Amino acid sequence: MGFVKGLRCRECGKEYPKEPLHVCEFCFGPLEVVYRYDAIKKAVTRDAISERPANMWRYKELLPIDGEPTVGSQVGFTPLVRAKNLEKALGVSELYIKNDAVNHPTLSFKDRVVSVALSKAREFGFEIVACASTGNLANSVAANAAAAGIESYVFIPSDLEQGKILGTQVYGTNLVRIRGNYDDVNRLCSEIAGKYGWAFVNINIRPYYAEGSKAFGFEIAEQLGWKSPRHIVVPMAGGSLITKIWKAMKELYNLGFIDKFETSMHGAQASGCSPISTAVKEGSELFKPVIPKTIAKSLAIGSPADGYYAAKTINESKGWAEDVTDDEIVEAMKLLAETEGVFTETAGGVTLGVTKKLIEQERIPRDESIVISITGNGLKTQEALQGKVGEAIVIDARLSDFDELVKRQGKKYAVGV
Ligand SMILES: *Cc1c(COP(=O)(O)O)cnc(C)c1O
Ligand SMILES: [Zn+2]
Repeated sequence: MGFVKGLRCRECGKEYPKEPLHVCEFCFGPLEVVYRYDAIKKAVTRDAISERPANMWRYKELLPIDGEPTVGSQVGFTPLVRAKNLEKALGVSELYIKNDAVNHPTLSFKDRVVSVALSKAREFGFEIVACASTGNLANSVAANAAAAGIESYVFIPSDLEQGKILGTQVYGTNLVRIRGNYDDVNRLCSEIAGKYGWAFVNINIRPYYAEGSKAFGFEIAEQLGWKSPRHIVVPMAGGSLITKIWKAMKELYNLGFIDKFETSMHGAQASGCSPISTAVKEGSELFKPVIPKTIAKSLAIGSPADGYYAAKTINESKGWAEDVTDDEIVEAMKLLAETEGVFTETAGGVTLGVTKKLIEQERIPRDESIVISITGNGLKTQEALQGKVGEAIVIDARLSDFDELVKRQGKKYAVGV
């Protein structure tokens, strides 16, 4: 079992064995998982995949674990929804929402990377798993570790939303809130990982963890009838997800599961933390670290680990990147809810807001197919909408009060039919 050959440095190409390593000891480049594609081609067909249970492990040959998954066996295969109302609102002809706001079990795409990371950590024999998180990863590590009976430590910036804090603590993890932003948390966690030797999912086992994001791309293609859309818009924090969706499409093509495709990958950030979109727009390879200031806390990474590769993916696929203000994020969250009945978190507002902008800029033509990546759930970031959706009306439990209300609203309903 298992089709992983080993790890390889993305910069100098040096190969490493399948171990909990993440940086090249020669050039400090990031390591990436390498597969035996010839063996995968012989082992599985696209029809066989389609007959498997509806979760992300239907693509297990292309995920980096050796045995069967022991954590998160029900994660993934979330809906891809044709968004007719939103098409009308944006003036485009073919739009889909890939909805990980309803991913099992913690309502964000992070369950994909965590199920791979924890299954792998177990194969490696780690007894404690941990993470540095902007919120959704915290929820997911805590929940999946609890279900798997693994001890966990979760580190977050102290000022996250209630939903992200309570939604971590409830699972009985060791939650540590750090006075500082994500970049401070991440720096501390690198030190802790080195000293304590725990499996930090997004640090020392990051090459394996990151591969879980590919399932988001595999599913989009399969759900479109084994096709890649013309455009995919993806929110960027550390910049990993966008690179992995792109990698997923290339793998499907190389295995012969999809035909030749032309997909532009577009990256979305909040203006209050936009190191990647700024670099893309300026055509620069230099990333200026920023101090995040945005309501999109799940995307608030000022020094993105995969920023360079995210920009490369965008350029290589002839996509673009944009960013939107906090007001535009809120507007877009409301637009998605009012048109499609999907309540996304601030990151989803970023993605839809940027999509709208790219359509207006004609970077995305109105008659081409578009997939919007909705990666997290709005119930977790309610603070962002506080006072922004109007006040709910309160009346006494009296019919005359209701009659009065209808009159005040100026509505004319036929009564008694
Ligand atoms: C983590 C996260 C992302 C971005 O992930 P990266 O791979 O770090 O770019 C996007 N959306 C949500 C909701 C997230 O929690
Ligand atoms: Zn190297």
